[in-house]
Amino acid sequence: MKTIVTVIGARPQFIKAGVVSHAIAAQGGLREVLVHTGQHFDANMSDVFFAELGMAPPTHQLAIHGGRHGAMTGQMLAAVEQVLVDVAPDAVLVYGDTNSTLAGALAAVKLHIPVAHVEAGLRSFNMAMPEEVNRILTDRISRWLFTPTDTAREHLLREGVDAERILPVGDVMYDVALHHGARAGAQGGALARLGLAAGGYALATVHRAENTDDPARLAVVVAALSLLAATLPVVWPLHPRTRGVLQAQGVLATLPAALRVVEPVGYLDMVQLEKHASLVATDSGGVQKEAFFHRVPCVTLRDETEWVELVDSGWNRLAPPRDAATVAAALHAAIGSRGRDVQPYGEGDAAQRIVARLADDLGA
Ligand code: UDP
Repeated sequence: MKTIVTVIGARPQFIKAGVVSHAIAAQGGLREVLVHTGQHFDANMSDVFFAELGMAPPTHQLAIHGGRHGAMTGQMLAAVEQVLVDVAPDAVLVYGDTNSTLAGALAAVKLHIPVAHVEAGLRSFNMAMPEEVNRILTDRISRWLFTPTDTAREHLLREGVDAERILPVGDVMYDVALHHGARAGAQGGALARLGLAAGGYALATVHRAENTDDPARLAVVVAALSLLAATLPVVWPLHPRTRGVLQAQGVLATLPAALRVVEPVGYLDMVQLEKHASLVATDSGGVQKEAFFHRVPCVTLRDETEWVELVDSGWNRLAPPRDAATVAAALHAAIGSRGRDVQPYGEGDAAQRIVARLADDLGA
């Protein structure tokens, strides 16, 4: 029996790890020890995903959150290292680009434990983003680089990574979306609770530091969504970081009624809200892709995106939050648009491919 320690801590990682955990359990010969760093800790940012995606509770809860990036990552590094010393796994599995990703990978590599990075090779080419730093460093020290797209693979090759470390498997988020998307009807759920009609609203999410920590950009986002809400109801599940900033600025109380701010929703509600929206406006990586999985047009509230295939194929357009009228025009223009028929994220079997490869290489 070979042991894999999975280190996760943020919302999108619970969703990605859920499907891989099931594949590990189904594989035989592999045992998974789940370490939750505590980066996201609210029930609606963490527990709900374990429950909805049928995941076992984490074996280790490190309860590390808040503080500056360095302090948070440093505490995680020390705590994960201790778990790795105790468990002595055969491999460590990390996801995406958060501080938990970097801490898990770094703790492992210093103990000479091989690291598997799921969602390797993504690049925004914007080193001001904490995510870009985390993903580049993690790729550099990982043995298995599981890439979701051809573009990700090309980035790694261009950086001089050995081709044999690069493993194109597709995107695990596509696996999850296929499974749950098929079940997300227009009845009940969040639509009923919020009184929304299928096809009669836009869905927004905003959480990136580049938007929340820049008052001018956040003001543009709020103004643009308010303009959109004048003609189409907008539902906006607010990330705790964004809520905190808007609350402190006194903006929350001033929003138009048609811009519906709600608490973060669970994954099943989110899938339903995405699938039946007429437009998605977001700065989230995962939500950009999920809009596409459900063939809903998306506007990305950023200067660049890692998921360039979606812009190239016409499903997504970039609207950097610099000027409210321009962003609002982009939002209006996207409604009713469709992109080309493309399939850049694999076959929906990324999780099985990842686990099969790990099992093989570990001799499980
Ligand atoms: N998500 C969710 N509820 C919400 C907002 C997002 O379940 O209220 C899900 C979404 O469906 C996607 C993931 O969280 O699967 C995206 O996470 P997030 O936007 O926090 O991070 P990113 O993808 O930008 O790394």
